[in-house]
Amino acid sequence: MILSVEQFRSLTAASVSRVPAYVPGKSTAETVAAYHLDPAGVIKLSSNENPLGPSPKAVAAAAQAVSDISVYPAADARDLRAAIADRCGLSADRVVVSGPGMDGLIDAVCKLFLNPGDEVIVLTPTFSFYEIAAAARGALPVSVERNAQFDADADAVLNAVTERTKIIFICSPNNPTGNLMSEKDVRKIAENSGCIVFLDEAYIEFADAPSLAPLVCEYDNLIVGRTFSKIFGLAGLRVGYGLTPAWMTPEILRMSLPFSVTTVTEAAAIAALSDDDHIDKSRRSVADGRRFFLEQIPEKTPFSVYPSSGNFVMIDVAPHTSKDICESLLKDGVIVRGCDSFRGAGKTLVRITVGTSEMNARVLESLVKAAEKDGL
Ligand SMILES: *Cc1c(COP(=O)(O)O)cnc(C)c1O
Repeated sequence: MILSVEQFRSLTAASVSRVPAYVPGKSTAETVAAYHLDPAGVIKLSSNENPLGPSPKAVAAAAQAVSDISVYPAADARDLRAAIADRCGLSADRVVVSGPGMDGLIDAVCKLFLNPGDEVIVLTPTFSFYEIAAAARGALPVSVERNAQFDADADAVLNAVTERTKIIFICSPNNPTGNLMSEKDVRKIAENSGCIVFLDEAYIEFADAPSLAPLVCEYDNLIVGRTFSKIFGLAGLRVGYGLTPAWMTPEILRMSLPFSVTTVTEAAAIAALSDDDHIDKSRRSVADGRRFFLEQIPEKTPFSVYPSSGNFVMIDVAPHTSKDICESLLKDGVIVRGCDSFRGAGKTLVRITVGTSEMNARVLESLVKAAEKDGL
């Protein structure tokens, strides 16, 4: 039967209208087109990617694996799971790998636990995909706001738990603010909430604190999410992983899309995991760049900068708006991330991925210029 678009649209699921769109960092291509820039002069510090690029070993492994792409990948990504288990000191029955990226894991976890009308807790401002994945299952995000320094309060989280709460999402280091949650607070929430706790450690390799992944052996309600997109420099391959209580591993796998990690991706990820040189170099480069921003931004600009455990720093550009400052930087070919689209972040926060020392110097120069502009 031929119906109108509006009639067909009425068939969409009830939850769909409440699913917010994901707002990504600006890409190089769109910036080049909008500002008529030379792509060679544009630096992209808007999505927390590794400015040193991928591990050369991962590139070589990917190139070699390309000749096998006529065959489906291993359904359980057994080799990659074993490599991750080895590296994390956990058994392989506590490892799930996911595509696309850790986003795929977050989506599978939401599918596994959420019914329409359930609640999830998010500690805002934070990564927005938790809300999106939960809303797609008809669940309702409940926001617990961070304090003025963007630290989260474990007691406030526990107070927000209701009989409908299923999942508590904790991002540590938190995107976009850089804060860590202490082991004590994670334990407190895992022990006292009665909920599934999803601890997102996308940036933990850049922190001075250890991963809390070993806690998945202690708590049957704790999942730790990790990704190859940040320190490992494989954002374009879209692969992440989860460290889980053993009972949950087969359940998450059942909810995941089959063959979501490709042959090429699996080979590259295994090589990246063991490239300690590249990992160490990336970590040192971020530590140096963070220190540079923390010292130089308050000294050379009127902006304040928040301490960060990730590969990014967040700055407050008040009384300017993040929109004006980002726009000014874009004209210089410097792409950073305005935080307006993060719930609860207000209009004056900007997140800057730590780049190479040359890139960081250009960011600083451009920030100085933006702050001095008339009419801003
Ligand atoms: C980048 C990021 C992820 C996931 O990235 P994938 O590319 O999907 O693996 C998850 N959480 C946070 C906080 C991130 O910043």
